[in-house]
Amino acid sequence: MNVIIFGPPGSGKGTQSQNLVNKFDLHQVSTGDLLRLEIKEKSEIGKKIEKIIEQGDFVKDNIVNELLNRVITNPKYKNKIVFDGYPRNINQAETLEVMLNSNNQSINFILFLKVSREIIEKRILGRIICEKCNKTMNEYFNEKEIVNHECGKNYLKKRKDDNQAAIITRYEEYMAKTKPVLDFYSTRSYFHEIDGNQKIQVIKGKIEDILKV
Ligand code: AMP
Repeated sequence: MNVIIFGPPGSGKGTQSQNLVNKFDLHQVSTGDLLRLEIKEKSEIGKKIEKIIEQGDFVKDNIVNELLNRVITNPKYKNKIVFDGYPRNINQAETLEVMLNSNNQSINFILFLKVSREIIEKRILGRIICEKCNKTMNEYFNEKEIVNHECGKNYLKKRKDDNQAAIITRYEEYMAKTKPVLDFYSTRSYFHEIDGNQKIQVIKGKIEDILKV
């Protein structure tokens, strides 16, 4: 199955994607992670997008679509993808359907995590990520988990775009460009809205119930 996890920045898409990967043997495809990897590797794409991401703006569609196409055409990922952070505008949503169709694939579930603006801010500002195992933790909500993290504190990093100024831009980009994608999808039978304000384990349970059907 292919799943899209949809929601504003900080809604928990990454965390829930990781749960799905473990539970249903899927692959998380986070365009944010793919783009950050390009920056880390200092590739041609990486050099072009570093400032854009830091400021919270969207990377150009042709760049993101090209990265996505590499994944969709890879047999290893066929019908086993959790799309996290893609599509982010109508053009990407349309492109995704074309790319999937031409590879004999489709979308089986669209999960929308609905979260209040206030919670988003806390989740983003408190977010801390382990570079080694990719686990996301939060210093406001669970400091103990950070202190006891098995990889040790040397790998724990904050994202450069997790600051107040970039949050405002990212949220505005979401409202202007990504929210319209909701209308594009919301009438489909496999679209599910989930209250993303709840605790991680509660959301996880709800998502698993939907996907088990
Ligand atoms: P994320 O990790 O999903 O929060 O994405 C981090 C940043 O990467 C975003 O603020 C954008 O700058 C960029 N990005 C990620 N996915 C996309 C996408 N589908 N389209 C355009 N830009 C993206």
